[in-house]
Amino acid sequence: MKALVYKGIKQVEVIDVPNPEILTPNDVIVKVECAAICGSDMHVYHGREQGIDINTIMGHEFVGTVIEIGDSVKRFKPGDEVISPFTTNCGQCYYCENGLTARCEQSQLYGWVEQGIGLHGIHAEFARVPFADSTLVHKPEHISWERANLISDNLPTGYFGVEMVEINPKGVYAVLGCGSVGLMAALSAFEQGATRVYALDRIPFRLEKAASFGAIPINIDQEDAVKKIKAETGGRGVDGAIEAVGSAPPLKLAFDLLRPGGVLGSVGVQAFDKLPFSPPNLYDKNVTMKFGRCSARHYIDKVLPIIDTLPADVLDVVTHQFPLAEAKEAYRVFDEEKESAIKVLLKP
Ligand SMILES: [Zn+2]
Ligand SMILES: [Zn+2]
Repeated sequence: MKALVYKGIKQVEVIDVPNPEILTPNDVIVKVECAAICGSDMHVYHGREQGIDINTIMGHEFVGTVIEIGDSVKRFKPGDEVISPFTTNCGQCYYCENGLTARCEQSQLYGWVEQGIGLHGIHAEFARVPFADSTLVHKPEHISWERANLISDNLPTGYFGVEMVEINPKGVYAVLGCGSVGLMAALSAFEQGATRVYALDRIPFRLEKAASFGAIPINIDQEDAVKKIKAETGGRGVDGAIEAVGSAPPLKLAFDLLRPGGVLGSVGVQAFDKLPFSPPNLYDKNVTMKFGRCSARHYIDKVLPIIDTLPADVLDVVTHQFPLAEAKEAYRVFDEEKESAIKVLLKP
């Protein structure tokens, strides 16, 4: 089959690789119908996350059709249309049973093989899914492949970030970063009852999307966000800030935007060493901080019922679609054309 593999920093190639095979009785093989490039794929692409083996198949956001099942798989059969969260889950450990599927003791992230151990990604024609019964979700027929794809990571991750800050309808919130996750967070904030949500970025095109989703856009290159928001909140700042980038400057800005007693929720994949604020800073502001990978399998059950009732169409974030054969160019566009690219899909 064709697959996009990691070849080194800023080097990816579509090559022919062997088709995946059933390795354990709980595996299924899925024909990938639609996949997406994620901001966190860029951490690997740029070498900010290191250790991945050369020739690892990249990617973790996908939906598809089951074509083969292992002997012990009960919930799926060939022909079933499925959504996969971006990590696999055993369904039986303490963390799976308590909704923290991101920290399943046997969880694997698609697209990460290190020293021969791990799970290949899904920027490919086919993918092997371990623990299929406790990982995959049936795709409702009326949801298109493209919409369903956003349920594999970005919508649950945005929704999770919003839950972190515990929305109060009278509160004021900020989303930092208007990539796909940030935009899903803005939508989710309104879904969870928020009435006032600022969206911060430096790319006008992304801010326009955020505004179309009902958020108040602030271009941080053109306005002093802290000054503006404090002026508009009686000098206090926001009750909650959701960081959806995964780098130090937006984390610092999120902290600076918070009122004393505010909550910082961070869902960006962090690939740097030191927090951009100190323990005394935290103490002096009575800040609560929450970090972490979204338990996508757990959150899919929360977002599936609401995908049709969100205040705007989640598909508005999709700006590009490429055939898998052109995945290398798709990576380049996602990386370099930030002025116009938000969500880039791959169609095998
Ligand atoms: Zn992702
Ligand atoms: Zn588990």
